[in-house]
Amino acid sequence: MINIVLFGPPGAGKGTQAVKLVEKYSLFHISTGDVFRYNMKNETELGMLAKSFISKGQLVPDEVTINMLVDTIEKNPAEGYIFDGFPRTVVQAEALDKILNEKGTSISMCLALDVEENELRERLKSRALLENRPDDADPAVIQNRINVYKNETLPVINFYKNQGKAAIIDGIGEISDVTERLFDSIDSILA
Ligand code: ADP
Repeated sequence: MINIVLFGPPGAGKGTQAVKLVEKYSLFHISTGDVFRYNMKNETELGMLAKSFISKGQLVPDEVTINMLVDTIEKNPAEGYIFDGFPRTVVQAEALDKILNEKGTSISMCLALDVEENELRERLKSRALLENRPDDADPAVIQNRINVYKNETLPVINFYKNQGKAAIIDGIGEISDVTERLFDSIDSILA
């Protein structure tokens, strides 16, 4: 059983690459961003709450996000998971370890997509148009997300580095090239 954390700043390509990893390794994909967007679209209570944070480029509070993640795992028993957009804080990373430990499993590795800031801004600008994501359209919201990433999310890498589980992957280049780099990295721990 493998469990992967796909890590990276907003616009790094986590969602795109997650789809490829799911196909190859038969993992269940959990994107916290997608679950929040689904709830916003259906105007659930969780969706309304999430929207008040997401529209400002802030993180949804840990407790809310962790409860949602537990709920998603419980509803979707699987042989292995790929976590996309989670954990985004050290508190979330600790919670994830605990959740998986209780199930007798653990994170196999954290794959961190590395993309420089100017490239991220360009990608988010085009995604705003392609995917109709208001949180990608407003430069102030984007800046806030990048700041939140640096302050709250980057420390998560050290959390996994300390466990010897972090791999930094160059996220620049053709989508298929990045996919190959991720495959190589996962295959190296399976070998
Ligand atoms: P991106 O990685 O491109 O910013 P996501 O779809 O992963 O996009 O997330 C969109 C928004 O949803 C984030 O900016 C944040 O407000 C919220 N969100 C997603 N995952 C989490 C999380 N693990 N903890 C807190 N907030 C989250």
